[in-house]
Parts: sequence; C-alpha cells; structure tokens
Amino acid sequence: MVITHSLGFPRIGRDRELKKAQEAFWIGELDEAGLRAVGHNLRKTHWDLQKNAGIELLPVGDFAWYDQVLTHSLMLGVIPERFKPVNEKVNLQTMFSMARGISDRYCDIAHAQEMTKWFDTNYHYLVPEFSADQQFHLSWDQLFEEVREARDLGHNVKPVVIGPLTYLWLGKTKNKDVNKLDLLNRLLPLYGHIFQRLADLGVEWVQIDEPILVLDLPQKWKNAFECAYNIIKHNPLKKLVATYFGGLEDNLSLAANLPVDGLHIDLVRAPDQYLTILDYLPSYKVLSLGVVNGRNVWRCDLEKTLAILRYSYKKLENRLWVAPSCSLLHSPVDLEREDKLDCELKSWLAFAVQKCSEIVLLAQAINQPDAPNVVAALAESRTTQEARTKSTRIHKPAVQARIAAITAKDSQRHTLFSQRINKQHISLNLPLLPTTTIGSFPQTASIRLTRQSYKAGKLSEEEYVEAMHSEIKHAVEVQENLGLDVLVHGEAERNDMVEYFAEQLDGYVFTSFGWVQSYGSRCVKPAIIFSDLSRPKAMTIEWICYAQSLTSKVMKGMLTGPVTMLMWSFPREDLSLEVQARQLALAIRDEVLDLEAAGIKIVQIDEAAFREGLPLRKAKWQYYLDWATEAFRLCASGVRDETQIHTHMCYSEFNDVIKSIAAMDADVITIETSRSDMELLDAFKAFTYPNEIGPGVYDIHSPRVPDASEITNLLRKATKRIPVERLWVNPDCGLKTRDWPETKAALSHMVTAARQLRCELT
Ligand code: GLN
Ligand code: ZN
Repeated sequence: MVITHSLGFPRIGRDRELKKAQEAFWIGELDEAGLRAVGHNLRKTHWDLQKNAGIELLPVGDFAWYDQVLTHSLMLGVIPERFKPVNEKVNLQTMFSMARGISDRYCDIAHAQEMTKWFDTNYHYLVPEFSADQQFHLSWDQLFEEVREARDLGHNVKPVVIGPLTYLWLGKTKNKDVNKLDLLNRLLPLYGHIFQRLADLGVEWVQIDEPILVLDLPQKWKNAFECAYNIIKHNPLKKLVATYFGGLEDNLSLAANLPVDGLHIDLVRAPDQYLTILDYLPSYKVLSLGVVNGRNVWRCDLEKTLAILRYSYKKLENRLWVAPSCSLLHSPVDLEREDKLDCELKSWLAFAVQKCSEIVLLAQAINQPDAPNVVAALAESRTTQEARTKSTRIHKPAVQARIAAITAKDSQRHTLFSQRINKQHISLNLPLLPTTTIGSFPQTASIRLTRQSYKAGKLSEEEYVEAMHSEIKHAVEVQENLGLDVLVHGEAERNDMVEYFAEQLDGYVFTSFGWVQSYGSRCVKPAIIFSDLSRPKAMTIEWICYAQSLTSKVMKGMLTGPVTMLMWSFPREDLSLEVQARQLALAIRDEVLDLEAAGIKIVQIDEAAFREGLPLRKAKWQYYLDWATEAFRLCASGVRDETQIHTHMCYSEFNDVIKSIAAMDADVITIETSRSDMELLDAFKAFTYPNEIGPGVYDIHSPRVPDASEITNLLRKATKRIPVERLWVNPDCGLKTRDWPETKAALSHMVTAARQLRCELT
C-alpha cells in the first residue's frame, strides 16, 4: 500500500485568521489566551482538512506564531542576549520581540533579528543568531504540546523539525571566525532529547527537513551530514529526511545513503531524479515522492504523474509514499473559498486542500486502480489538460508577434551612463546625497476601507478618485515639510505592488482568498498568470501627474518590474519564465514611455524580487541572470537620456550577482542594507558599481525609529564604499506597513542625517 503524507500545511487560515489574531495581540486587543485559542482552532481545522482529504500522516510543527525557523530557534534556546527575559522563562513575548524588535514607540531597545528569504520562495524566515560560545537548551515546548494536542484529537501524526545541518546553514554568527559547523556537536544532543520526548508521546515517524541538500554544498558540510546522521541514527523514532525546492544532483548518493528510514524528494522541480534515486536507494528505505506542486496553483496532471508513481511502485512497493513537492505553506489554502472565479479557470486550479486530495487520489490510483472514483478522476484530469492546451483564452497571436519582433537595440539605453547622468543632473538639479523614499506611504485603515468600498460599488469612481487625491496631497505635503528631495505619490491607490499592475494587464486572473504567508502576519495574494500578457491602456499616468501637479519638486513615477511581476505571481507552467518576463517587459516599457511623455523625469521600476529568481544551484545562475537582466533593460531602455531610471531591490544579498545588477544599467538603485549594518556593501569592495546607489539607512520592517546619529553613522560607513557623489539617502523599502507618526519621525531623522553629512562634506 502506498502511504500519503503532507510536509506541512499553510498556517494562516483560509480567512487569514492567524494574521488577524497576531495583529490584534500586538496592539493589545486580544490577550494571550485569545491568541492561543485561535492557534488551536486553526491547527484543528487544518488537521481535519488534511485528514478528510484522506492524508494518512499529518504534519505537526508546521504551525508557527511567526515563523517556523524562529520557533525552532526558541526550542533550541538560540535566543540572542538582547532578548533574554530577565528572571523569566522564554515566552510568546520573547518570540515576538525577536521577530519585531522591542520598541516602546520611539525609544528603542533592541533590533529585530535579521530576516531573509526561505530558499527561492517569497517566504521570509528569521535568521538564527549564533554566539561564539552558543549553548543549546530545550527552551520551548510548542512542538510537544502540539503533538499532544493532535493526538488528543485522534490524529496519526508525523512531527516536522528543521534538520541540524539546514538549521546551522541558515543561521549567522556575528563573529566571522566562528565556524558554524563547530556548533554541530553541541547541537546534536538536543535532537536526541527532542526525538526521545516525541517517542515518549507515542510518535513513530519524524520528518527532518534538510532542504540544503538541494544546494551546492561545500565538502565539509557534506561530511558533516554523514557524521551528524550517524549520531542521530541512534536516537529513537523513524526518520524521514525531507529535501525540496530542487534536485539532489551531486548530493544524491549522500542523501540516499544517510542512515535514516526514509527520504523525500521534490519531483516537481527535479522530475528526472527519481530514476537515479531508485537505483541508489538502500532497500530498507522509504522513498517519498513529492509529485504535487506545493509552490504553484495549477492542477496536477494526474496521468503524467501516475506514470512516474507506477514505475516507482514496481520497485518500491510498500516503501513508496506520496506527498506534495514541499510544504503547502507556499500555496493558498482552499480553492472552494473562491466564489468569483469562472468555472473554466477554476477547473485548472488546485490549492492546498485540493492538492491533498490529488495526493490521495494518486495513491489510490496505485492501491485501487479500478475504483470508480479513480477512473472518473483520471478521465476528468485528461479532459481538463486537453482543454487548456487548446483554449483560445490562453494563446494571443498579437502578443506572440510582438515578442518575435524584439531586437537587441530595444534593450540598450541610447548612451552610456557616464554620458546620460550629466544630462540628468542638469535636468534634476538635486543636492548632494539626495533624499527619497521607496514609493509607498502608510496604507492606513481608511485607505483600505475606501478601496474596499469602491470595489464593493459603495463609492463612485469620482468619490474614490477624490479620496485618493486627498491621500496623495497629504503625502506630498508631508514630504515637502520633511524636506525630502525626490518625492513620491505614496501608492495609496495600490493594494499591492504586483496586483495593482496585474489587474490592469490582460492575461492575469485574481483570487479573492488566495493568500500566502510572506513573513510574520504579512500575507500576499499572488495574481495568477494564465495567458499571454499585454497592456490594454496606461496604468499610472493620472495618479503620478496629479501628484506632480502639486509640487515643484521632482516626482518619481513608480512601476513594478517584469521580473518581480513574474516572481510574485503564480506563473504559467505551459510557457517558459523568460518568455513570460519578456511579455511583461513590453507592457511596462509602454508605461515608462507614457510617463516620460507626460513630463515625469524619474521613473522607478521596482525589482524587489530580482535575486529571488536566482536558481538555487550556481550552475543555473547565468542563464537566469541573462534573461532577467534583459527583461529589465527591455522595459527601461526606451527613454531619453534625461529621464532617470531608478530600480529598487529589497533583501538582496547581491554580492554575488552585482555584475548583473550593474548590467541592468538603472541610473540609480536603492537597496536593503540597514538590518545587516551595511554588510551588503561588502560587494563594493571588489566591484565598483558604476551607477548611483541608495543603500537603505533604516529598516522599515520594524516599528523601531532610528535616531539621526545612527543614520549618519550608517551613511558614513556607506561613503567608505561608494563615492559620495553617487550616494542616495532612503529607507530600506516602502513604508506602507508603517503608521504615519513613526514614518514622519524616521524620515525626519533621515533628512537631518543627510543634511548633517552634507554640511560635513561641503
Ligand atoms: N515601491 C514599492 C513600495 O514602496 C516597493 C516595495 C518593495 O520593494 N517591496 O512599497
Ligand atoms: Zn523593497
């Protein structure tokens, strides 16, 4: 019999209950008991959903109050000194402080832990901080409590923990001399304790996530895997090592031979690896095949997948498990919740709940191939797949013709940066160290309400435009009073930097409830690309021109770039990513040119997700970087020399891709740096970034307001790497998640810092 299991389920709830409860807790509107009750109900619901779909082994440990890596850090007692509660046990407050920083409004106490992307997803985790003499102690019982909770509910559970090597790999030591692997011997006994406690609770299997096995690993780390698992094998429980987000490649033999009881591999990202694995896998081991895509929303092609499973089953028989490719954390919760999608589109999609059913159906197709529901489901899957390939809703000859007509010239600015920048300086007339922001200002409750009312038809278009104009006017006034140099309109009219544009393009479809967690309580609702893409008409001109009409300062037009549009959408699976990026680039190019024609002198094209698209394996980087850079240039290169193109990237540790970033040839780039104390600027030691740059001087992901001297210090650090004539002053990212008082306070300190440095330097 083939067994089904799930690697993890989305924790936010189909109505984002967790987000709402967390936020209410943070502002004191919900007490801890209330928050815990919401968590309990969500876990219960999610186990029920998976079990009702027919999943046999249910995950525990996939629930987290903020982030699963943070939860794991707490469990192991990896709590930086600055967050250790005095005379108290670690508590929920400790956890939220580590995630959000401690702030009593304007007097700050401690920086939040660094946050970064979880592999190549848009999920962010809290980077564990190891001290040189890091000790590990079991400090947080959540996993055990949840296992007990699930068992009390009568569930057959498989707890999920982050593996020791992946955990160390993800963490950081401030002191560069500390080798993280030196911590392994101290860390491993904790896994022994954890597994013992799980065994005492009656657990049989534990899932140990080791996704770093799909990365290029240094030899030392490969060796460490062997050593570590040779120790772990003596611990209780049956162990399933889970790998996902890519193929094992050179780590395949290592992974297959680890002394554990099972291995999970991702066959969506790396479909071919099962054949080799089947050869390598020791005969005592379970092989879990991740065949249903946990990272996209399309229905699984059941027949195609079944062929792989049938072949594997011949070899493995009862040792075959069926699963999603990775945790379902990265997919929306329930397609059934969608009441506005048309039937045809809906028939092409599957969210977490439906994916569980697909997994069960695939297993059943092996276990009981003749069951009538199996036969019917396979027939239906085939019809749906065929209908899609033929659908005229998908293939657009006009778009395809425009793509075919692109020439090399289309992605080249007319002159080199060194020539055009002088023209821009004359045209813009900005001071040294120009100050600006990344685009959005606080999305207040009233803005969101106005948008909702408009969408619900309760506000007329005229009323809506008037309300947005008044927000824009307010943002412009605030910026003028603060003394910022390059202004923005504030993005009040935008729900989301991708959705806003996607809604105006042909070829996207939207869900109402397709939320996916991005970090903490922050969720995103990626739009779905389902057909060839085009721009029917101008998208932003009226708003930007209105903003420009209110001020004599330079107003920056604000667009989202093709790579980010793609990375933060659910892409098609029937067309290559690079062609989808090119289609988007042409649409955005038209918008850039319309902005220029309307008199806008600076256009920022955000590529927040540029680095996110990097394949996990180095060997595949250049191919991606080439098409991604090309797509950006295609959308940015139509303008005159005088028009300044900005781009923005967040969370970009781009030391290793700096050449491609430079090749994008944006006149100015603003980047994230403040959380890591400008460490990112190390990239500029070896490579002279040729164009202008604004390293973020304060972290907008935390409510903490930095003071001017702190910002001045960061700027001084930056001047050591970047010539001051090419330096801009700006926050890390957009301010839409902040509120106005802290935004004004922080920006005023930022302007003060820039002015102070200007005085010192001139
Ligand atoms: N312009 C966007 C904003 O300010 C950029 C956001 C982002 O980079 N994530 O919100
Ligand atoms: Zn950003």
